[in-house]
Amino acid sequence: MASTIGFIGLGNMGNHMARNLLKKGYPLIVYDVNKEAVEGLKQAGANVAASPAEIAATTKKIVSMLPASQHVQAVYTGDKGVFSSLQKNSLLIDSSTIDPSVSQLMAEEAANLDSKFLDAPVSGGVNAARDAILTFMVGGPEAEFETAKEILSNMGKNVVHCGAVGTGQAAKICNNMLLAISMIGTSETMNLGMKLGLDPKLLAKILNMSSGRCWSSEIYNPVPGVLEGVPSSNSYKGGFGTALMTKDLGLAQNAATATKSPTPLGSLAHQLYRVMTNSGFAGKDFSSAFQFLQEQDK
Ligand code: NAD
Repeated sequence: MASTIGFIGLGNMGNHMARNLLKKGYPLIVYDVNKEAVEGLKQAGANVAASPAEIAATTKKIVSMLPASQHVQAVYTGDKGVFSSLQKNSLLIDSSTIDPSVSQLMAEEAANLDSKFLDAPVSGGVNAARDAILTFMVGGPEAEFETAKEILSNMGKNVVHCGAVGTGQAAKICNNMLLAISMIGTSETMNLGMKLGLDPKLLAKILNMSSGRCWSSEIYNPVPGVLEGVPSSNSYKGGFGTALMTKDLGLAQNAATATKSPTPLGSLAHQLYRVMTNSGFAGKDFSSAFQFLQEQDK
C-alpha cells in the first residue's frame, strides 16, 4: 500500500491535486485554515489534521499548495508548523509560487532537521489540476527529485528538474510573466476585434489558426462564451486569482531588479494587474483583464 501523504492548502488548485492523490490510492492527511475546503476532502476519504505539526508527526512526505511566501513561512516555521514536529528524513514538496529565496530558506531549515525541502511550482490552470496534467518545475537535489517525481506524476504529466532549490520558482516566475503579458495581449486583441464587428468565437478561431495563437487565446480565452469550462464563461470565478497573478509579477520584478534584466512589458503587466487588484478584480480570475479593459470604455 502507498505511504500516507500530507497535503496542506486545499484551494482552487490544491483540492484537485489532493483528490488526484486519493484517486491514485495514496492515503491522505490534509490541513487548511478554511474548514469548507477541508470538509470536501474529508468526504472524499482524506484524514484531517488539526495543524501542519500534526501532519509532520504523522507522515514523512508532505506537499503544500499555498497562496504566497508568507503563508508558506507560516505553515513551515510557525507555531504548530511543519518544522515543529518534523521527523528525520522527511521529504517536503512545496508547489506554491513564492520567492525563490524563501524556498532556499525553507530548504536550509529542513536540512538542519535532516530533511529535504524541494520547490515544485506548477503551470496549468485549475482544469489541468483537475485532470492531473500539470507541469511541475522542480528545484532540489537529484536524488530527492526522483522520489518527488513519483508523487508529483500522479498530479501532472510533466515533472521537470530545473536544478538546485529555487530554480523551480525561477522557471515559474518567468512563465507567469509571459502568461500575464499574453493574457493582456489577448484581451486587448479580442476587445479591438469585437469593436471592429468581429464575432468573438470567429476571431478566436482565426487567431488560433494564425501566428497570434497562444495559451491565453486557445485554452483559456478571456472572452465570456468563447470557450466552455473556463473562468471567463463562469463570471471569472475560480481559476487563478488576479491578486495571485499580481503577486507573481511582483516576484518577477524583484528578480529582474536583482539581475538587472530589462523587462518593460513585465513591468507594465505588473502595474496593470495591480490596478485591477485595487479596483475590485482581486478575487476574479486573471483573465478578467478583458472585462477590465471593456470597463475602461464606459
Ligand atoms: P487559493 O487561494 O485558491 O488556495 C490556497 C489555499 O491555501 C486556500 O484554501 C487557503 O485557505 C489555504 N491557506 C492559506 N493560508 C494557509 C495556512 N496558513 N495554512 C493552511 N492553509 C492555508 O490559491 P490557488 O489558486 O490554489 O493557488 C495556490 C498556489 O498555486 C499559488 O501560489 C498560486 O500562485 C499557484 N498557482 C495557481 C494556479 C491557478 O490557476 N489557480 C496555477 C498555477 C499556480
